[in-house]
Amino acid sequence: MDFNPELNEDQLQIQQWVHDFASEVVRPAAADWDEREETPWPIIKEAAEIGLYSWEFMAEAMMNDPTGLTMPVALEELFWGDAGIGLSIMGSGLAAAGIAASGTPEQVMEWVPQCYGTPEDLMLGAFASSEPDAGSDVAAIRTRAVYEESTDEWVINGTKTWITNGGIADVHVVVAVVDPELGSRGHASFVIPPGNSGLSQGQKFKKHGIRASHTAEVVLTECRIPGNCVLGGKDKLEERLARVREGKSGNAQAAMQTFESTRPAVGAQAVGIARAAYEYSLEYAKERRQFGRPIIQNQSIAFILADMATEIDAARALVWRGAWLGKHKKYRNAEGSMAKLKAGRVAVWATERAIQILGGYGYVRDYPVERWHRDAKIYDIFEGTEQIQQLVISRAISGMRIE
Ligand SMILES: Cc1cc2nc3c(=O)[nH]c(=O)nc-3n(C[C@H](O)[C@H](O)[C@H](O)COP(=O)(O)OP(=O)(O)OC[C@H]3O[C@@H](n4cnc5c(N)ncnc54)[C@H](O)[C@@H]3O)c2cc1C
Repeated sequence: MDFNPELNEDQLQIQQWVHDFASEVVRPAAADWDEREETPWPIIKEAAEIGLYSWEFMAEAMMNDPTGLTMPVALEELFWGDAGIGLSIMGSGLAAAGIAASGTPEQVMEWVPQCYGTPEDLMLGAFASSEPDAGSDVAAIRTRAVYEESTDEWVINGTKTWITNGGIADVHVVVAVVDPELGSRGHASFVIPPGNSGLSQGQKFKKHGIRASHTAEVVLTECRIPGNCVLGGKDKLEERLARVREGKSGNAQAAMQTFESTRPAVGAQAVGIARAAYEYSLEYAKERRQFGRPIIQNQSIAFILADMATEIDAARALVWRGAWLGKHKKYRNAEGSMAKLKAGRVAVWATERAIQILGGYGYVRDYPVERWHRDAKIYDIFEGTEQIQQLVISRAISGMRIE
């Protein structure tokens, strides 16, 4: 199958469906939840009622789409509505993706539905990798998981930080060290089932943007979980560790493809924010009059908008290409990272330019543009910072070790 940027009938329907929800439910609520800095439970519930917040939607969009474009298309629309609420709806997907990436089919069936619950009994998922001293440097993770033969339990101790839905989630997927000698190849992922008394929420962060999305520390103290909660199963883990200890490959190529393939989806969220700012400032520039004419009739304003339209389309093209290549396992030059890098930068740049077009009105909270600018900045930081994307791309294009 060749890359084709033309959306099929199903994708056009999903695009319209998510757009309607974003414009009728999400965007009108965005300013309020940004001010409250709280998880927007009523909006998540509405998303669950229409089937958008559900493991079935995630499975359908990810698995039954040979093009890879359905997910980025849906995400762009949702995050066009609002990124903080968007992340509250999609945050559980991080845990679900972690389970799907490393879990056995039985683990996927058991735990992914519990990341979502039902509209009557909503549940959340969280994916916890980052630590205070291990952000970009994943190999520096210190959270330790030790297997206790006598009870067939894993005992986990450590502190995770910056965790989306951390502490309020029902299912936490936690990355921990099982063999400290092996660096990042001695890590494994674990599911912490709901209601575990060894897991607690540390501080909740007050943020610059995406403030409707809950971000907090997760503290694991003598956190005991059943032996079968290691993702992939204990036997597979032992086999992998034995291979690594013998100096054989730990499947780095497959892991690289997995990381790369999640990045276009994050880029699509950034494109949604950028497009919101572009559309809003375009309309504003056509209506706002100074010196007796609409401000768009000044080239300096019109050309910013022309650049915005161009950059947003360029970012989306990279996102869709990255998503398609990810689906077909065809990455060659870290095209997933390219998509995320470009989209994050475009979102920050376009939202800043939108403030400029609105002037003073862009700078105050009565208008949504300053919020979009605050929201956009996270796309240069999480899921791999701007510099980490550059590192991955430069290593891919050069084939050399770049530090
Ligand atoms: C709102 C929010 C939500 C998040 N959600 C989650 C989540 O759900 N789960 C999770 O596990 N994590 C999450 N994170 C963590 C996020 O992924 C990290 O913040 C990110 O990986 C960067 O790590 P750090 O903050 O420790 O920065 P650092 O790694 O300390 O980086 C600081 C600066 O140094 C640069 N830098 C670091 N190393 C290099 C290098 N080798 N070369 C060049 N420059 C370098 C970085 O690019 C950055 O500019 C979230 C973060 C935020 C802010």
